[in-house]
Amino acid sequence: MRIAVIGAGVIGATLALTLVRRGHEATLIDRSDGAEAAVTGNAGAFAFADVIPMATPGILRKAPLWLLDPDGPLSIPPAYLPRIAPWLARFWRASWRDRYAAAVAAQAALMALSQAALERLVVQEGLAPFLRREGQLQVYEGEAAFRSSLPGWEERRAAGVNFHLIESAAALAEIQPGLAPRFTHGGWTSGWINVTDPALWTRALAEKSGAARLRAQAAGLRIGHDGIAVDLGGDAPLFDRVVIAAGAWSGPLARSAGLSLPLETERGYNTTLPAGAFDLRTHLTFADHGFVVSKIGEGLRIGGAVELGGLKRAPRMSRAEVLLRKAAGFLPGLVTTGGRQWMGFRPSMPDSLPVIAAAPRDPRILLAFGHGHLGLTQSAGTAEIVADLLEERAPSIDIGPFRPTRFAGASR
Ligand SMILES: Cc1cc2nc3c(=O)[nH]c(=O)nc-3n(C[C@H](O)[C@H](O)[C@H](O)COP(=O)(O)OP(=O)(O)OC[C@H]3O[C@@H](n4cnc5c(N)ncnc54)[C@H](O)[C@@H]3O)c2cc1C
Repeated sequence: MRIAVIGAGVIGATLALTLVRRGHEATLIDRSDGAEAAVTGNAGAFAFADVIPMATPGILRKAPLWLLDPDGPLSIPPAYLPRIAPWLARFWRASWRDRYAAAVAAQAALMALSQAALERLVVQEGLAPFLRREGQLQVYEGEAAFRSSLPGWEERRAAGVNFHLIESAAALAEIQPGLAPRFTHGGWTSGWINVTDPALWTRALAEKSGAARLRAQAAGLRIGHDGIAVDLGGDAPLFDRVVIAAGAWSGPLARSAGLSLPLETERGYNTTLPAGAFDLRTHLTFADHGFVVSKIGEGLRIGGAVELGGLKRAPRMSRAEVLLRKAAGFLPGLVTTGGRQWMGFRPSMPDSLPVIAAAPRDPRILLAFGHGHLGLTQSAGTAEIVADLLEERAPSIDIGPFRPTRFAGASR
């Protein structure tokens, strides 16, 4: 089959490699050299333990406090509020107990598949040198913060995640020396995996695939009996199958396949510091502050947080500065100079679950986007599911929770 994959971010690149290895002819279409992709500057974590969606029960009590704090983990530019309101309403509905529990179960199944698929890919393609297996330490300030995190840890345990809980600063320091004394408790996930550099990882997958490359903006799809034409401005090459994997920009392409979906972007910010900034021993998560510190190449990346501000608004790099300032307080030895700031667009559905499915109107069009905070993590599993769908085989997990029509009014 001639298959076009629109978007050479981590979902598209992993899929192209999977398809080529299964004997298909794949063409990767991307308008940029990768610089725009959210994966380029992300934190590099295969966060298989992160099965808890963003919309947790009780989120409505916490969110206003976060919004009122200018240094908090969530911000919404006031002018964007009317635009994001319908998405927020769905986000709130996703936090209700029944849907939340279903989302955790769906996320756990996709995580298990993705982890197994990643390990297969690493062996098959000799990718071990791209990975760090140094665990993840999630830290809390004091007994009360730790206690309130426990239900989340219980949910992880029920989902099969292995971890152990830590109740002293001395035990934290054995894993990560140099934390401020305010951090007294933690959760340690020893099996956690990071990639040495998510941009290099993605490029390596695309190159290994040997897929044909087209540097062009896909403006839409035209459905015909003899194939699907991808409108590239002047040109409109014809394919047997087309996969939309354009991250946060997938909305207009999905519309040309007859779907109007609540895809938004959670903008995230970070700063990458040069080598020698801090002796980081593991992937460090400050969960109550919404940011992480990870090793990237020889340096360190400090960032996360969420800004619901759409795709067009200019970045507010003060958000990255806030996180760096906080990190300097949490890691007193941190050298904060010489950093490079970045903002990226997470492709986010209100229930934190991706869309992975054949388009209802025409199953020759496949959808693979909306992975939110977890696109790198879920890339290998997503690629196996989409390849199965293309081959008209049943995927190895239930993909019902990832159908595009799960939101009322999603299908035209
Ligand atoms: C600060 C931050 C930290 C993160 N940390 C992590 C992490 O540690 N672990 C994790 O799993 N996830 C993380 N994420 C999320 C992750 O980066 C995204 O979920 C992931 O990049 C989504 O992959 P994608 O391939 O769908 O989209 P992208 O990586 O954004 O790639 C989309 C590609 O599509 C192309 N494109 C778009 N529209 C068109 C068009 N019309 N025509 C042609 N090409 C088009 C773009 O140029 C781009 O290259 C983080 C995100 C941010 C912002």
